[in-house]
Amino acid sequence: MNSHYTNGQDNIRAWLIAALLMLAGAAAGTRVGPALQWLQTVVIQGENTAETELRGERVHRIAGLTGGQAQVSSRGVADTLLQAAVGEIRRIEEETARNEEQKRREAMAADWRLLLVNKEHPLPEDYEVRVTYTELGYQIDERCVDELEQMLQDCRKAGHDPKICSAYRDRQYQINLFNNSIWNYQSRGYSYEEARALTAEEVAVPGTSEHELGLAVDLVSYANQRLNEEQENTGAQKWLMENSWKYGWILRYPTAKKDITGIIYEPWHYRYVGREYAREIYEKGLCLEEFLAQ
Ligand SMILES: [Zn+2]
Repeated sequence: MNSHYTNGQDNIRAWLIAALLMLAGAAAGTRVGPALQWLQTVVIQGENTAETELRGERVHRIAGLTGGQAQVSSRGVADTLLQAAVGEIRRIEEETARNEEQKRREAMAADWRLLLVNKEHPLPEDYEVRVTYTELGYQIDERCVDELEQMLQDCRKAGHDPKICSAYRDRQYQINLFNNSIWNYQSRGYSYEEARALTAEEVAVPGTSEHELGLAVDLVSYANQRLNEEQENTGAQKWLMENSWKYGWILRYPTAKKDITGIIYEPWHYRYVGREYAREIYEKGLCLEEFLAQ
């Protein structure tokens, strides 16, 4: 390989480029650090060991990166250094973004606040719920009770009348609820299969209810305690639908998401996911299934 490195001016140019890249790196944060370190090493070692094997090898490597120029002037070295450094910075940025995305996904998968419970994702058999008492003798996961009570308090301060009408349910309670609904439909003349299918649209099959998870609560207005779509017109519900995310709660079964959640519109069922996730879900207009799949 024939190379020559002569011109002092060109060396200064290489240094200037390195300095500019360092400034750019400082402006862009720490993510380009390794690339700049690499560039500096190349330039410094190239300077200090001119005509040495090491320099030859570096130039060879850089030339290889840019299409294998055999003849490299020091101006060429400066240019190829710049190109290689930019490429390296881009590669590191992409790798960092991939790693961050991977970390985000792992953190979400391990986060109890995002545990998905629905028809396809039953509650894990060994799931242990630690509940505590809240208003009216209802129970809720002790990790979200403060934010629930704060939300209800602020809703009342705003002049509304929210009331808990269901919170944590143990498995037996959910079984009873499910069977009662089937009997109800049967008593109105439906076959067992029909009654069960209709029930499954309204009541979670035991083992697939968020209420068993301890992170769900049904909230109504004292003035209207019926669980129907009219609920969304009460002042309490309007306030909750607009503000619950600030306390880490999301309206879990919005009207537009029925096909995805598999549950009818329930403008009373709230699920705790924590404040940062609730904010993102609310702002993006997603349901939990969509949020977890994005
Ligand atoms: Zn509910």
